[in-house]
Amino acid sequence: MFRFKVIKKSKEGEARIGEFNTPHGMVKTPVFMPVGTQATVKGLTPEELKGIGTEIILANTYHLYLRPGHQVIERIGGLHKFMHWDGPILTDSGGYQVFSLNALREISEEGVTFKSHIDGSIHLITPESVIHIQESLGADIITCLDECTPYPATYEYTQRSLELTINWAKRSKATKTNNHQALFGIIQGGMYRDLRERSAKEMVEVDPDGYAIGGLSVGETKLLTWEMIEYTIPHLLPDRPRYIMGIGTPEDIVECVYRGVDMFDCVLPTRNARNGMLFTNSGKIVIRNSAYRLDEDPIDKDCDCYTCRNYSRAYLRHLFMAGEILASRLNTLHNLYHFICLMNDIRQAIFEDRFLQFRRDFYHKRCNT
Ligand SMILES: [Zn+2]
Repeated sequence: MFRFKVIKKSKEGEARIGEFNTPHGMVKTPVFMPVGTQATVKGLTPEELKGIGTEIILANTYHLYLRPGHQVIERIGGLHKFMHWDGPILTDSGGYQVFSLNALREISEEGVTFKSHIDGSIHLITPESVIHIQESLGADIITCLDECTPYPATYEYTQRSLELTINWAKRSKATKTNNHQALFGIIQGGMYRDLRERSAKEMVEVDPDGYAIGGLSVGETKLLTWEMIEYTIPHLLPDRPRYIMGIGTPEDIVECVYRGVDMFDCVLPTRNARNGMLFTNSGKIVIRNSAYRLDEDPIDKDCDCYTCRNYSRAYLRHLFMAGEILASRLNTLHNLYHFICLMNDIRQAIFEDRFLQFRRDFYHKRCNT
């Protein structure tokens, strides 16, 4: 059975450290989950992911359902065996991809009909089928189908959308048969305070194992994102993890942790790595910049990842300019390690009751460069 335990709560703000257990191991929170869209975190082996301290990864139900097909993965022994990752996995419901990758889709009470972005075939997914798919993939944490409310959206649309999402969450819970998998319900409510509050309260009634906060970072200002989180979190049960979907930058993570979020996923560190944008404690660097042509320093002098211990900015710039595969691999190793170290530092700061000081220092370092 899935259990989440709060180990310590910050005296100021809502930041907290905790841990949850899964059939594939324990996870310490706040945690960053590298994104493995196609059952692979692009460019890295599971051993490399573990080597940099990755505890849990995310995989996308939508992509794996379309290709290679969840039945294929089930036949081969489930997602863990298929991708040779024996740690915890969270699968999303596919709802976000259905809405973001498909211009042609039709939402009804029953579910969503959409056209595959790969071959144009027509599919209907329902709250029930999404649970069946995720049960056959075998992830440790699975999620309910939701409608990611577009932005901007009218009050009436947002209200109808959240009612649909809550109703789908109830059907998802009723469908689930595997007690080893935890089920997360997704909170929507757009950019309306009362709808966020209502969504949170009604999701508490549904009683999932954890809460995902969806529909944010969809084009609204950061201030509005933080406000919506602040309206949501006080209405959730404190003994369940809170996962904010698709966020974000190191700054976003610090702000969300401050407001009580426990779990994160984002393609930013991996996608930016492949585009040559690298994270450091003093801000981002663009490795293709000619200023690095003769630069013998590592990406970040404070970083002790494999890339920073062994390679200069000049070499990494050369690999990137030459379009070498190794550029993506080394950059991804560094960026993910940077995010994992950030989470370790955050947890340590909360543990030592100095999270606000940590937050001030975090911004100070970035402003001084
Ligand atoms: Zn590094």
